Amino acid sequence: MGKLSIDQLRERVRGAVVTPDDESYDEARKVNNAMIDRKPAAVVRCANAGDVMATVDFARENGLDLAVRGGGHSVPGFGTCDDGVVADLSAMRGVRVDASARTARAEGGATWGDFNAATYAFGLATTGGIISTTGIGGLTLGGGIGYLARGLGLSCDNLISADVVTADGRLVVASEEENADLFWALRGGGGNFGAVTSFEYRLSPVKDIYGGPMLFELKDAATVLRSFADHIAGAPEELGGFPAFQIAPPLPFIPADRHGEPFALIVACWSGPLDEGERALRAFHDFAPVVAEHVGPMPYPALNAAFDALVPPGLQHYWKANFVSELTDEVIDAHLRYAPGLPAVNSTVHIYPINGACHRVAPDATAFAYRDASFATVIAGMWPDPATNEAGTAWVRDYYEATSAHSEEGGYINFMAGDDQDRIRANYKGNYDRLVAVKRAYDPGNLFHLNQNIRP
Ligand SMILES: Cc1cc2nc3c(=O)[nH]c(=O)nc-3n(C[C@H](O)[C@H](O)[C@H](O)COP(=O)(O)OP(=O)(O)OC[C@H]3O[C@@H](n4cnc5c(N)ncnc54)[C@H](O)[C@@H]3O)c2cc1C
Repeated sequence: MGKLSIDQLRERVRGAVVTPDDESYDEARKVNNAMIDRKPAAVVRCANAGDVMATVDFARENGLDLAVRGGGHSVPGFGTCDDGVVADLSAMRGVRVDASARTARAEGGATWGDFNAATYAFGLATTGGIISTTGIGGLTLGGGIGYLARGLGLSCDNLISADVVTADGRLVVASEEENADLFWALRGGGGNFGAVTSFEYRLSPVKDIYGGPMLFELKDAATVLRSFADHIAGAPEELGGFPAFQIAPPLPFIPADRHGEPFALIVACWSGPLDEGERALRAFHDFAPVVAEHVGPMPYPALNAAFDALVPPGLQHYWKANFVSELTDEVIDAHLRYAPGLPAVNSTVHIYPINGACHRVAPDATAFAYRDASFATVIAGMWPDPATNEAGTAWVRDYYEATSAHSEEGGYINFMAGDDQDRIRANYKGNYDRLVAVKRAYDPGNLFHLNQNIRP
């Protein structure tokens, strides 16, 4: 068979194939990060796995770049490309829960909002991201850090199987039993190995949680960070959450005269018995005086959506990340130097604990290698005005440089920038060579290269 033309592709797929002449092209080529302005030759709004297979064939046969888009949240803009083809899975977002088996199967373009809404009805959940609009696809394939990780492990640790369209256009199942090498690589290796049309997850009993944000004065930030690190290492694993830095948004629970000021935060999530929540969070109140808080019982999906308004689509994004094995005084000093300069209310710095169930998985049991890290830090620069891109980016870079001197070489791939490709090997440590071997087996031509790329 010869190469597929765009018209043949249109005949073969159920979803729309959007090209530059179409009215919806500008909408179709957009991703979450407005700094990314790429012009693909075609965006295929995939309706099903067959559409994904056809799109993969089309890209490969025509020698075009292929971008795979789930939730579109990749900060480096891996969900789009110039002149190539985008397999856009964002219309594929169905979630089916098997409550008795405590599993859920979600299509590759679902968001955590879709997922949590579906599982909440059954009092079940799994580890997902902290913003409801992030895709389960990119997040899970990179590892997946969130409120429930201390108790349930990373998102990828809860993956049971995946339906994957590989570079040759076949749909294969990856699980412990089938294509086990591919399954291993999918759990942390990112979008390198294929387009996942469906993810099957293990669920655990989580329904309503007790939590929310607590604001502390910046002058108390060092104490808060040190106390948090001491406390969280031994706290019950139902206690999730993370310290952060954030400019106070104009919300009613924050005194009006403090709006616009930077604060240290703890965002807490107790997923144990609700009536124990207040007690579980009491230790945080002992770290330092709390300036303002919005803490209480709420549905888990409500906490998952609580910060969505701070990160609407269309902001400018530049992020950097690293792991630390210890929150040393040097790292804390670096935070204290740069956090007060947060460039906008949308920007934030999160310091996610990696311990509990995340540490019980061996470093070589999945592709996610940093099982000995104690925190994953992300310096998430986000602002609305492109005119401030240079200053905002410089703040992220300087902050990152200051902390990286006292951090591990690798960072969490889902928080890393487009200019971090030289850190990929470091990120995977002892797993890198095995990832290359799996890449050679499933994608020797590196069709799936628009990601934190593991070269075959
Ligand atoms: C506002 C915001 C909040 C975030 N919060 C968290 C958080 O709490 N925890 C966390 O761990 N990370 C978080 N992240 C980072 C997030 O994990 C990555 O940005 C991730 O890539 C997003 O996945 P996506 O599907 O939305 O992105 P996309 O841009 O659609 O995809 C990103 C990458 O994943 C691959 N990909 C996506 N879907 C598939 C699929 N179905 N099959 C194969 N490859 C696929 C793509 O090829 C691409 O390389 C956040 C990001 C943002 C912008």
